[in-house]
Amino acid sequence: MTQRIGFIGLGRMGRPMASNLCRRGFDLVVFDVVPSAMAEATRLGARTASGVSGVASEATIVLTMLPDSAVVEEVLCGGGGVLTHAAPGTLMVEMSTIDPRVTDRIAAAAIAKGCAFVDAPVGRLASHAERGECLFMVGADTDDFARVRPLLDAMGTTIHYCGPVGSGIRTKLVNNYLAIISCQLNAEALALSQRFGLSLARTLEVIHGTTATNGQLKINWPAKVLAGDTEPGFTIDLAHKDLTLIVEAANAVKVPVPIAAAAREAFTVARGHGSGDRDFSAMVDVLCEIARIEKPRLK
Ligand code: NAD
Repeated sequence: MTQRIGFIGLGRMGRPMASNLCRRGFDLVVFDVVPSAMAEATRLGARTASGVSGVASEATIVLTMLPDSAVVEEVLCGGGGVLTHAAPGTLMVEMSTIDPRVTDRIAAAAIAKGCAFVDAPVGRLASHAERGECLFMVGADTDDFARVRPLLDAMGTTIHYCGPVGSGIRTKLVNNYLAIISCQLNAEALALSQRFGLSLARTLEVIHGTTATNGQLKINWPAKVLAGDTEPGFTIDLAHKDLTLIVEAANAVKVPVPIAAAAREAFTVARGHGSGDRDFSAMVDVLCEIARIEKPRLK
């Protein structure tokens, strides 16, 4: 059967992901509440729907890449949402980073309506999405995984099957716990280095040669904040959202995560400081601004 692909949410991640599906020849219908967000996909041959219902009634597979749990639940399960308009057998592929308990609820509602559900949240950053180099963490029945695999291959280079529905989003929270608290740790360490008046280049050389190093500091930061680029990729607001999901999901299963809770509050400070829309690597700039320390920049 020819699959017609619906794509809802064409923001920093969804826009390039949908574009890559178009380039690989998939038949796409797209929707975003911001009409200009759909321009690139349309130029590449996608049709636009006038709402979520239009996508649901045309598509056999519906992908969502939306900001948070509340929006995802409304778009998929709300009154005018996908489940109301989708034909039985429609497969929903939820790729946003949301509360795993919401994932479980939506999956149950989908199955009750004779539809299928896969969670496939995305690792890596918007720059990877542009290059078709996303990493997916997939929770799915094996038949549904086979059905969705060609789409994931068109958007990414690395696809991990994590287990049954709900395993993808839980793996994503474990991953983001480390990726996001690394930013706060790096911010504190580099602010201290700056205050000590150390050479940034030499400090990084030392750190990268010991177990102190981490992916954020080694891969992301030199191209972002340390190069003076704080345009988001991944915003401080979204990182704060993810840390909140992590703290709440861990609390729900009685796993204490005091470091995540402390890091979350550092991100709360950054948002209060007016920096929620900056790249999450700019956490070091926020700390330096507050402590009146020169920002670390590689010349
Ligand atoms: P974004 O805010 O740039 O994009 C979200 C898009 O959803 C926007 O275009 C917005 O207009 C649209 N939208 C909002 N409500 C809608 C609705 N009701 N119907 C249709 N469209 C709607 O966010 P993003 O950076 O693309 O992130 C999307 C998700 O992916 C988030 O859950 C985020 O945590 C996760 N994520 C982001 C990154 C990253 O580096 N940016 C990486 C991995 C995962």
